[in-house]
Order: sequence, then structure tokens, then C-alpha cells
Amino acid sequence: MSSVMESSRATTIRTLQHYVNGRGVEGESGRFGDVFNPATGEVQARVPLANTEEVGRVVQAAKAAFPGWAATPPAQRARVMFRYLNLLGEHLDELAALASSEHGKTFEDACGSVTRGIEIVEFACGIPQQLKGEFSDSVGTGIDCHNVRQPLGVCAGITPFNFPAMVPMWMFPVAIACGNTFILKPSERDPSTAFRLAELALEAGLPPGVLNVVNGDKEAVDALLTNPHVDAVSFVGSTPVARYVYETGTGHGKRVQALGGAKNHLVAMPDADLEQTVDALMGAAYGSAGERCMAISVAVAVGDEVADVLVERLKPRIEALKVGAYDEQGVEMGPLVTAAHLAKVTGYVDSGVEEGATLVVDGRDQKPSGREQGFFIGGCLFDHVQPHMKIYQEEIFGPVLSVVRVPDYETALELVNAHEYGNGAAIFTRDGDSARDFARRVNIGMIGINVPIPVPTAYHSFGGWKRSLFGDHHMHGPEGVRFFTRMKTITSRWPSGIRSGADFSIPVMRDR
Ligand code: NAD
Repeated sequence: MSSVMESSRATTIRTLQHYVNGRGVEGESGRFGDVFNPATGEVQARVPLANTEEVGRVVQAAKAAFPGWAATPPAQRARVMFRYLNLLGEHLDELAALASSEHGKTFEDACGSVTRGIEIVEFACGIPQQLKGEFSDSVGTGIDCHNVRQPLGVCAGITPFNFPAMVPMWMFPVAIACGNTFILKPSERDPSTAFRLAELALEAGLPPGVLNVVNGDKEAVDALLTNPHVDAVSFVGSTPVARYVYETGTGHGKRVQALGGAKNHLVAMPDADLEQTVDALMGAAYGSAGERCMAISVAVAVGDEVADVLVERLKPRIEALKVGAYDEQGVEMGPLVTAAHLAKVTGYVDSGVEEGATLVVDGRDQKPSGREQGFFIGGCLFDHVQPHMKIYQEEIFGPVLSVVRVPDYETALELVNAHEYGNGAAIFTRDGDSARDFARRVNIGMIGINVPIPVPTAYHSFGGWKRSLFGDHHMHGPEGVRFFTRMKTITSRWPSGIRSGADFSIPVMRDR
């Protein structure tokens, strides 16, 4: 573990730092947030919450580093990325353990998500290819035209708690490879992984000031959104905050992409392989304790027969889920991130019962023995959920799956399309016609056909529709390159070209 990340002011509770200009920096605001060990409920660290002045200094550092980094040829930037890729591979276990210890997810799951982040660095290694411009010879007599994509300047990333490595890595490797400098504001609930990612980037040869980490809460976010020297903001988090970030950031003249919450449906057709569907639902609804923006939280059963089979087969498997701490052998589901989040999720289960849904599996009081103070909840399953219910309408972000019964495929499609969120959706079927129709007509950004969590790979782009994304660009892949660069078009003529004299009308190509 890094020595600069920790200071010895407290004996048992570490005090974390910001990472600015290539070194750890103590917080000065006097405000701190608690970082818990979700498995024990104990505070394990204090994270400094930056004030506006501190954020201003980080922005200055990133601004100062920009001209030199932007002028570094893309192939040299790519070489830094190659070294970073190797270092990340060597430190995969360390990064995953860091993420798990503050988030609570199982070590294996954390390894997977860090790996998905590392894949974005692989993509960023090919940045010279992505930044190749377009050239048109002779757009007029003796006149050529070409496009280049140039970096924006200082970019900020504001990230959620649920993927402390992967979501920041959706953003900064692409931003930096494109020639920008970057300020990451990670979630204050599990901030240590971001610091380590920045340290390793420096070790890989990234110049100081190109990647900075500032910890904080709303005050730090507002300082980034309103600072005139921040050119673009990439955000991932809940929908109300995504909307706020989008409106405030664009109101201050910045380019903003803001990804929000989700309610992902899996439509189970009567011809689906139901054993495969049940396996898919178990992983997609209860993996990472449901704290994934691509988690399946609604199973739409087409016909009562499908619903009955799903519920009957899911029930014993949910009851048998092994819930425990991230570093225990064989654990399938860890705790939730904080006591406040546990109370929120439990509240949703209470409301489902009050609204008349059938609670088939109740995980509310399920705590592993000896872990009574941890933020644990077992898997929960509701049947006969109606679209007007709060547990259907709102994102729960916990291990709670709702079964909605519909009579036919068209009703299933209408249901998915009527929901305010549009992140992901899946259909399980053996019928190519239904699958194709679903993929074409559903108003959702990422679709799985017999794939429950259709997270696009690094060289494609990630993003939802409707209230799951505010802005025009999805993240990473080609869309990431578009977001983190702006196009410049150059039209050129040289003295040896044909002289046409002064022309007072708009230039056009005339037939000879
Ligand atoms: P959150 O919205 O509470 O926090 C996200 C970030 O915003 C954090 O860095 C936080 O410090 C900051 N923030 C929180 N409140 C703020 C405010 N009032 N003003 C300014 N900044 C504020 O989200 P979370 O609880 O950390 O993460 C879970 C949410 O993220 C879920 O809704 C989940 O669906 C969503 N998410 C979406 C995606 C996606 O790709 N669409 C991916 C991961 C997570």
C-alpha cells in the first residue's frame, strides 16, 4: 500500500489525501468524510473534503500541465499508456482488494471490474489510430482540406461509489491519451483506489499535473462545475445529480456527459432456456449486491407459466446465496456500501410489502454470524409487482429483484419502453424474430440478447438513453474520443495554386 496515501495522525483510522501535481496533498478544509469497512461497520479512514480554494489549486495544476502534454505526440502518449497497462496488470490484486475493502464487493468481482477498466487503457494505447484525421485532396482547384481532433484542455471526472476503479477508467485513460489533463473527483465513500491509480500513472511516466485526484462532496463538485478553467465534465452517478451536473456544467459553458441511474429489465420469453435465464438472473440481480448500474432489477415474465417456473427456481437459490465479507472464501455477495444505503434498500423492501407485492424471499434480517454490525442484507425476491409500485418505478440499487407478469411480448416491450430509465435491457429467447424486433424497437441504450449484463467492451461505447444519460456522448471507445476532443477543419491553398483574384461572394466550386 502506498506510503504517501497514508499519514500517521491517527493510529487506527487512516487519513487520506488528495493527489495533485504528482504527490499526495493533505486536505486543508478541515472537513472530512468517513470511509467504512462495510463488512464490519467500522470507520477505516477519513477522507478530506476539498473546499473551493483547494479545487481551484488543483485546476491550476492541471491547467499548467496541459500545454506540454497536449504538445506531446500521440505515439509518445500511447507509450505511457503501454507502461501504465503493464503496471496495472502487476497491481491488479492490490487495486481490487483496495476497491473491495471500501466498497464491500467480493474480491473476484472487484478483479473483474478492475480488468474491465484496464481494457480501456488497452484501447487508449491505440490512440494514434483513433486521432488520425481525414484529408480531402483538391476540394477546389489547388485547395485541400483536412480535419484534426484536438484535446479540450482541463477535464474533470466525477464518479460514483459502485465501481471505484472501472468508472474512473471509463474516463481518464481516454481523456489523457487524447492530450487533455484530468481531475478525478471519486466517490467520497471509497476514494482510495483512485489515488493509487493516479500514483501508478505517474510511475508509468505520466508528467505531474496530468492526472490529479481531488476528494470531496457537493462543494468540490460545484467548484469544478463553475471553474472557468475546466473545459469538460464527465459524470456518472444517480439521475438527480446527473441532471444537476449536466445543467450546471453546460450553464457554465462546459462540454458535459452525465450518466445517471437505471432500472434494467430482463424479458423472459416462453421459448427461453429457463435454466439459463435463472442463472443469468442470479448473477445479474445479486452480483455486487445489486449495486451495479447494469444490474437486472426487473424480470418481465411473459405468461404466468414462465413466471411460476422462474420464481420456483429462483427462490431456493436466493435463499442459499453465500453472503459475507469480500475476503472470505466462497462468498457470492458482500454487504452494501454504507448503513445509510442499507436503510434505503430495506425501506424499499418495506414499501413493496406495504404496496401489496408478494415478498417471496426476505433478506432484510440476514446477517452473517459475527458480522452483525456490517451493512449486510440477503437477496430479496418480489413476485406480482405492478408498474405503479415504488419498487418498480424507482432504482433500488440493492439485491432486490421484482418479477412483473405480462400476458404477451408486446406488453413486455411497452412496459420497458414506458420506464423513465433507459440504461440496459435483455431479452431471453430462442426466437431470432423476437430478439431482432426487441433490439430494434426498445428505447434503451444497451441491449443483451441472452446476455444479462450487456456492458459494451472497451472499443465500443457505454451509455444509456432517456433519464440514464444527459448529454450527447456515450463513454469510452470511439464516443469517448469524440467527447474528449474537438474537431478542427483546415482548408489550405499555397501560393503556387491558381490565383482567382478578389472574390466577394461565398466560395463555391463552379463547373468549368
Ligand atoms: P451519487 O449521485 O450519489 O454520487 C455520484 C457522485 O456525485 C459522487 O462523486 C458524489 O460525491 C457526487 N454527488 C453526490 N451528491 C451530489 C450533489 N448533490 N451535488 C453534486 N455532486 C454530488 O451516486 P452514487 O450513490 O455514488 O452511485 C450510485 C448511482 O450511480 C446509481 O444511481 C447508479 O445507477 C449510478 N451509476 C450509473 C452508471 C451508468 O453508467 N449510468 C454507472 C454506475 C453507477
